[in-house]
Amino acid sequence: METKEFRAESKRLLDLMINSIYTHKEIFLRELISNASDAIDKVYYKALTDSSLSFDKDNYYIRITADKENRILKLSDTGIGMTKDELEENLGVIAKSGSLKFKKENEIKDGYDIIGQFGVGFYSAFMVAETVTVISKAFGSSEAYKWESKGAEGYIIEPCQKDAYGTDIILKIKSSTEDESYDEYLEEYKLKSIIKKHSDFIRYPIKMDVTKSSLKEGSDKDYEQYTEEQVVNSMVPLWKKNKNELKDEDYDNFYSEKHFGFDKPIKHIHISVDGAVSYNAILFIPEKTPYDFYTKEYEKGLELYSNGVLIMSKCADLLPDYFGFVKGIVDSEDLSLNISREILQHDRQLKLIAKNIKNKLKSELEALIKNERDKYLKFYEAFGRTLKYGIYNDFGSSKDELQDLLMFYSSKEKKMVTLGEYVSRMPEEQKYIYYASGESVERIEKLPQTELVLDKGYEILYFTEDVDEFAIRMLMNYKEKEFKSVSSGDLGIEEDQKDKSSESEDKERKELFDSMKSILGDKVKVVRASKRLKNHPVCLTNEGELSIEMEKILSAMPNNSNLKADKVLEINVNHEVFNSLKEAQDKDKDKLSLYTNLLYNQALLIEGLTLADPVEFTNDICKLMK
Ligand code: ADP
Repeated sequence: METKEFRAESKRLLDLMINSIYTHKEIFLRELISNASDAIDKVYYKALTDSSLSFDKDNYYIRITADKENRILKLSDTGIGMTKDELEENLGVIAKSGSLKFKKENEIKDGYDIIGQFGVGFYSAFMVAETVTVISKAFGSSEAYKWESKGAEGYIIEPCQKDAYGTDIILKIKSSTEDESYDEYLEEYKLKSIIKKHSDFIRYPIKMDVTKSSLKEGSDKDYEQYTEEQVVNSMVPLWKKNKNELKDEDYDNFYSEKHFGFDKPIKHIHISVDGAVSYNAILFIPEKTPYDFYTKEYEKGLELYSNGVLIMSKCADLLPDYFGFVKGIVDSEDLSLNISREILQHDRQLKLIAKNIKNKLKSELEALIKNERDKYLKFYEAFGRTLKYGIYNDFGSSKDELQDLLMFYSSKEKKMVTLGEYVSRMPEEQKYIYYASGESVERIEKLPQTELVLDKGYEILYFTEDVDEFAIRMLMNYKEKEFKSVSSGDLGIEEDQKDKSSESEDKERKELFDSMKSILGDKVKVVRASKRLKNHPVCLTNEGELSIEMEKILSAMPNNSNLKADKVLEINVNHEVFNSLKEAQDKDKDKLSLYTNLLYNQALLIEGLTLADPVEFTNDICKLMK
């Protein structure tokens, strides 16, 4: 018998499993039980679509037997089974899970992470077994095959005998070592507790022979032992249980059983609705961003059940894109079973459920802001971006759902605040909601453009993410207050008019600024006296729709549109530098050119823009020092 090698990727995952330091080795049982349950589901589907078949519930179950003496743990199912090719394809290679691809791309250290992040399925058996044997007969086939592997060396496949269709997984449990006991995976009580903990809601009975003892007939002290077959799992899905009987832990367990995520969800929402449409749902708000969340590969959706039977594993129509991070299940009796995807999209019931869920999520998140701010902040760090994309992508049409969920760092509070909180603090005469954009809070704090607004005692919201300004442009206003960038032309702040310049002064300034503009050419639209600068000599602002921050973001995009903001070079006429400019204007045109270029380049640097010619800039500084 020729031993076949595992494909390279599988081999690596196998190594990982065999040498796993993962502390929750017991999850192998959950993985094998889930596979068995899926396999029975497949027979069930067949029966649904093929009227010549009938599905007699009593004939479908999972059976677990432990033979302590020989260290054998066996899992049998009456599911769809596997053909020879399927054994080869499914167990010889790990293709679907994508976990290794991810691992390669992300350079995770072997061990812990990967096992938790993904359902690693069948291979987890190697965490506890030295040999894994799979005996399977596919539904409708007359042949059975045996697949066997001791791990890394490879596997064999050969014909064998099996009466009914289905699959037996036979594990030769490892011997215990000094550090690790494997004996417990052969103990009845332990197996029962693992099943209860991880697989209680499996819809098919998980049967085990349980040892019992009773008094021997005719004796009052001698016991005899006998075994009795028991169904270990309750089979009632979590969402059909009474909320009051469930603990947080039950929901958390469910979350990881379902492979919704490696993290512990921030919140679970258990919904039972009876009305125009009846449904049960359990929704989770994860704590951490899934690794692929902001990629094309990420698929949003909820598991959709019709009266306990899974009809779709990711029903995307149940969630708006901006709530795409939500995980969970929906079960409704009002949906027909063999409904197709196309029909489902137009299903009135489904639309009602989706709307209901959207509203529920909105109000739960808002409640989180009010009552559990720390949790919300964690959530917002992971998923705030997607809420903002939501506003942007829907051109502001999801405003009502999303605007109260937004948070930004506040110059006043030095922490994240909501728009509602900002507006409630606004002094009566303040017309706008002010914001400043930049790479980070630290950087924005140093922006000269913020000086006047801060001086007025107004609060500024700091936009540190790419999407912020784009989203806010779509939002346009909040509670009738418009948003205003601190870099925009007109700040809407009444000047104290300290700087009452005379007419002749005005004329003189205009000449200076015009010469500076002609030195800079197309780089700026205009040079003018600043109304917003207090301490800094210079800054860049913009006129028109496109802000400098937006220009930066657009120019970093792959199909760079080369759009430019209309830039304004603002000069602080109360700064000493202004006098130097005036002097140069009168006496030395070369100097004026030098100063103008220097100031312009400084303004670019403050904005975080790149200099067109850094060498020239350094040369200019040297000139200054001479
Ligand atoms: P996953 O379950 O995530 O697809 P696994 O490694 O657990 O990955 O299993 C790989 C595949 O092997 C399954 O998708 C299924 O097609 C098949 N398989 C595993 N266990 C069984 C089983 N008990 N009966 C039938 N097919 C099975």
